[in-house]
Amino acid sequence: MDCIFCKIAQKKMNATVVHETQSIIAIKDIHPQAPTHLLIIPKKHYSTLLDCADRELLADMLEAAKTLAKDLGVDSKGFRTIINTNEEGGQTVFHLHMHFIAGRPLMGKMG
Ligand code: 5GP
Ligand code: ZN
Repeated sequence: MDCIFCKIAQKKMNATVVHETQSIIAIKDIHPQAPTHLLIIPKKHYSTLLDCADRELLADMLEAAKTLAKDLGVDSKGFRTIINTNEEGGQTVFHLHMHFIAGRPLMGKMG
């Protein structure tokens, strides 16, 4: 399958990896929307959130966000986690991923 996030997870394509577990990889977004903009990507391919029934994996993604928040020292200041789903949800890469955004005030800004 020609999927950029599968290639990144399999280290067949370059990315700046900031965190990795057995089930996920966290990388820097190539077009950051904030000083910290990471993507938490499952190693296994699911096109969208709707295609993933793996509760353990979904929990792993959220746990990775908590770990990153603590490791980066943004836990008390705050951060935002977003999963875009399908076209109107703003999804452009059809391999499930969660954005982790921090480093500027995000109050009320959804875009
Ligand atoms: P989506 O719009 O699907 O929720 O988010 C896709 C994200 O992936 C975008 O923020 C985009 O900048 C990022 N992205 C797309 N291609 C690449 C890539 O090749 N490398 C990295 N690191 N990020 C990418
Ligand atoms: Zn994929």
